[in-house]
Amino acid sequence: MKTKARILLVYTGGTIGMIKDYDTGALKAFNFDELLQNIPELKLLEHEIETLSFKDPLDSSNMNPDGWLQIAETVEENYDKYDGFVILHGSDTMSYTASALSFMFENLGKPIIFTGSQLPIGDLRTDAKENLITSIQIAGLRKKGKPVISEVGLYFEYKLYRANRTTKINAEHFQAFASPNYSPLAESGVYLSVHETDLWKPDRKQKLKLHRHLDNDILILKMFPGISKSTVEHMLSKENLKGVILETFGSGNAPNDEWFLNILKEKISLGLRIVNVTQCIAGSVTMGQYETSMELKKIGVVSGKDITTEAAVGKMMYLLTKNLSAKVFKTIFETSLRGEMA
Ligand code: ASP
Repeated sequence: MKTKARILLVYTGGTIGMIKDYDTGALKAFNFDELLQNIPELKLLEHEIETLSFKDPLDSSNMNPDGWLQIAETVEENYDKYDGFVILHGSDTMSYTASALSFMFENLGKPIIFTGSQLPIGDLRTDAKENLITSIQIAGLRKKGKPVISEVGLYFEYKLYRANRTTKINAEHFQAFASPNYSPLAESGVYLSVHETDLWKPDRKQKLKLHRHLDNDILILKMFPGISKSTVEHMLSKENLKGVILETFGSGNAPNDEWFLNILKEKISLGLRIVNVTQCIAGSVTMGQYETSMELKKIGVVSGKDITTEAAVGKMMYLLTKNLSAKVFKTIFETSLRGEMA
């Protein structure tokens, strides 16, 4: 009987593996082997760990859909060989990458755990070791021969979250992430406690499918008091624009000026998909609750409900490649596909 879980650890870049360039004082990516030498504890883990590194590790600000696909293809190629995957990634855009991957993989039946750190692994006060070691342990959890976690997770500072529910909330604190609309999937203290009822339940009869194509002809339009007609017009006139994530106030409210609604209405009639997400850190869009969101609903703006902006980006890029009619796009966007919305 197989006892040890096999884990593939993939280094894509990020602070965890960075070192200070003493000429410039800036942090830059360094050699993955050196990173591993800094964590002799890995040998103490009960799992079999194999490692792989991006040829040119990235600061995650340089991550993009090509990089997402590179991670996804690495997982896909190795899917049958390993019980779980741990992806080391910069924290800056980790929620975007991890959310996108959750949509790119349909019928995921194994854990893909993203982690990173606020301080490099070589730093005396680093948070990297705990994040990495516990992520590996989580990826290796099994019950009756099946993985306990079967979704894309993000582990940081003692908490495992559903990745597509997360957002980076702090550039300095070790607790850099939050999942404001969904409780953590697991918490690490003296014991590792997994909240089993909150986990994604995969359909294990279905085969893993990787959706490779994403459409990045989208933009995020963040509303602010005083936004002008020319700004909105200019942004929504971008050539080839297919989707807009409209970051609105509160429960999905925006100015109900005629000029604003007319621009949106016209663009929607020309095929633009517009999704309403809230600027609030927590809570949900409820179009129709106020007069200032009633019209948005009437003209065909899609509700992002309690989705994060990060997950909305991934979901939109994924759905735009499916050539859906406006009606079907709306129905599917408003449905939870990977646990990303209530
Ligand atoms: N700039 C770094 C990155 O996102 C920050 C980090 O890793 O925490 O790659």
